[in-house]
Amino acid sequence: MAFNKRVKIKTILDQNPIGQEITLMGWVRTKRSNKNVSFIALNDGSIITNYQVVADPNLISEDILKKCSTGACLKVTGIVVESQGAGQSSELNAKSIEVLGEADPEKYPLQPKKHSLEFLRDIAHLRMRTNTFSAVFRVRHALAFAVHKYFNDKGFFYIHTPIITASDAEGAGETFRVTTFDLMNPPKTEEGKIDFKQDFFERETNLTVSGQLEGELAAMALAEIYTFGPTFRAENSNTTRHLAEFWMIEPEMAFYDAEDNQDLAEDFLKYVINYALEHCADDLKFLDQRAAEEEKSKPADQRAELGLIDKLKFVLENDFVRLTYTEAIDILRNSNHNKKKKFQYLIDSWGADLQSEHERYLVEKHFKKPVILTDYPKDIKAFYMRQNDDGKTVAAMDILFPGIGEIVGGSQREERMDKLTQRMREMYIPEEELWWYLDTRRFGATPHAGFGLGFERMVLFVTGMGNIRDVIAFPRTPGNAEF
Ligand code: ATP
Ligand code: MG
Repeated sequence: MAFNKRVKIKTILDQNPIGQEITLMGWVRTKRSNKNVSFIALNDGSIITNYQVVADPNLISEDILKKCSTGACLKVTGIVVESQGAGQSSELNAKSIEVLGEADPEKYPLQPKKHSLEFLRDIAHLRMRTNTFSAVFRVRHALAFAVHKYFNDKGFFYIHTPIITASDAEGAGETFRVTTFDLMNPPKTEEGKIDFKQDFFERETNLTVSGQLEGELAAMALAEIYTFGPTFRAENSNTTRHLAEFWMIEPEMAFYDAEDNQDLAEDFLKYVINYALEHCADDLKFLDQRAAEEEKSKPADQRAELGLIDKLKFVLENDFVRLTYTEAIDILRNSNHNKKKKFQYLIDSWGADLQSEHERYLVEKHFKKPVILTDYPKDIKAFYMRQNDDGKTVAAMDILFPGIGEIVGGSQREERMDKLTQRMREMYIPEEELWWYLDTRRFGATPHAGFGLGFERMVLFVTGMGNIRDVIAFPRTPGNAEF
């Protein structure tokens, strides 16, 4: 017989197979014993709920029972019976227990008590064995699946854009270099500079910061595409919302203008959130309670008005507020917050870049709803955004979420060759390097638009976690690449 004939806990709870003999495999969360019986709470990852195994010391040896400590991995065969205790309708009467892997109680770091998130970050290789993290990663999975389902059902095509690129798409310059050179002894040119012609790709390369430019190329053939891949930014921002390695979803659509782009983004965000509400009810209920506990430790005036699940429903039920950057600046400039100098960066003039404190003020204090901010000054946005007729602004959009700030950044793209190259010159972006990008404007150009959603920011929002390091399995941040 094959080894894996296990039944998952989720299946048992769904089907309640009273009287049947089954085999469960999973990890011990807790064990309670007296001289007549042992109760073992087992978790197998399929669902947040633990399943109770009842072991009779007349059937299961003392030696085995001793090894069934927190963290140990067990294979239990037995009969499903009606549960005596409250809380769960059935339990497993063990006929035999095999200890697949012991966990020395003296050394196993996870004990059945509350551990801090900081402590768990240091043992990220084990933290998925906790309720909180298993819930987060099941929700993360569902969200990723929903992203693909949404676009697939709409007829978008999934494009895999390169991870290694020679362009720094945004011109932001915060890239990780990719090289096979021996850093102690790289080949030099006659002028004494590093000779990248001798490197693997015969040029300078780096990890991608965005798949957008290549996504645009695909949209000029397949019309509606999306990417969903890792992106890398060597920005030294030690915030709760920035990672050095994160996953980004970037749809790019031919024949879409700025408004079509906003409509798609709003519909997409709501779809994905709704998918989680429908498919992750148990995990979200747990995370909702966790977040509520967390809120209690905050001062009364800083507590969230809505619990997690209510917050998610609120986003679904309300239209996002759409306003221009210029309107937002007026609101911020005239706000009491600004007048009383409560912002770290005061808003005094049009043209200022918005900091996350301003974004969060608009969303959390002023509108109390997700906000789509449009038409930013061209000087604070990327070269490829379509220039508006006023000569000052571009058809950009940022979507701002409560507790998160910017979750989406996008724009209608500049499809007019002359305007695009003029902007590139103004921003010192070399045309020769992006000849292939410019070809889309030379041959069969059309209005088009797209946006980027930072996947982890979405997971943060839906799970109610407070730190982006806690919604990716193995976070990469400045000074941290363990595991
Ligand atoms: P921010 O101002 O928050 O740094 P950005 O303007 O640099 O964001 P974009 O370049 O527009 O962001 O990237 C698109 C999306 O990717 C953002 O809206 C955000 O959701 C996400 N994102 C950007 N940088 C990071 C990061 N370092 N870690 C995680 N997600 C990120
Ligand atoms: Mg940034």
